[in-house]
Amino acid sequence: MNLADINVMTKILSDNGFSFKKSLGQNFLTDKTVCPRMAESCLDENTGVIEIGPGAGILTRELCKTAKRVVAIELDERLKPVLNTTVGEFDNIKIIFGDAMKLDLKQLIAENFNDCARVCVCANLPYYITSPIIMGLLRSRLPIDTITVMVQKEAADRLCDKVGGKKAGAITVAVNYYCVATKLFDVPKTSFYPSPKVDSSVIELKISKNPPVSVKSEENFFKLTKALFAQRRKTLLNTVSNTLAIPKDTVKSALFELGLSENIRGEVLNMEQIAALSDLLFK
Ligand code: SAM
Repeated sequence: MNLADINVMTKILSDNGFSFKKSLGQNFLTDKTVCPRMAESCLDENTGVIEIGPGAGILTRELCKTAKRVVAIELDERLKPVLNTTVGEFDNIKIIFGDAMKLDLKQLIAENFNDCARVCVCANLPYYITSPIIMGLLRSRLPIDTITVMVQKEAADRLCDKVGGKKAGAITVAVNYYCVATKLFDVPKTSFYPSPKVDSSVIELKISKNPPVSVKSEENFFKLTKALFAQRRKTLLNTVSNTLAIPKDTVKSALFELGLSENIRGEVLNMEQIAALSDLLFK
């Protein structure tokens, strides 16, 4: 079955009375090279894989061929008969119809991947929840090795930029805290049906064993990170003291202690500086 052939895919969808819902980020891949590349980049026959949003199953089929076991989570129950048709032939897949944002993935991993050497996530993410999904996966410290996902190109550039870089945001700092992010390849918007407005990229997040900096409180580190990027054109001094209600004199003396200018902007700080500043500000 060649789901990359748009005629094959649209026939299966229409035979099952399926119509696309933009609100669920339903742009399905119609490219025969992208899914094998995604699967091969992260999987082998000993790996268990979680897919978020299998859609019509084009990536799911590749995952089933490559991995030991696949658990796919799909919110849209209308895709049940479609997925029966497209991945019904495989016996190493379980499809859960539910919201990936609400499921207990730790429990899902314990229940399904006990006999797998490693577990990873591989998905063409619904773009409207890219950040919460990625941050949810990272923050919950799941026992996973890698997250290989397709996201909007702009999001990929932000996620894979270096902390302090021009495209970096609060999420870049968070991602760098938990993993090493690499862009694998770009995917043009013409590779999807219906075609979205923007191009995409596949990125790999390799989970780090330990964070690159040690902080007294992770909660405070992330609170400061959020504040640093809250008002980009303002100085760190103003943004941090306004957003976190910390007296300006306290922020000034922390900046002085770190050898940083009072006029510095929050988004140019590197990981070590953010860690040191959070330890000083919240002590
Ligand atoms: N994997 C397919 C592909 O590459 O063609 C479909 C990808 S499509 C961009 C995103 C999929 O995620 C859709 O099937 C959509 O219904 C599903 N989805 C949207 N929100 C979801 C959620 N909260 N939990 C699980 N699946 C979701």
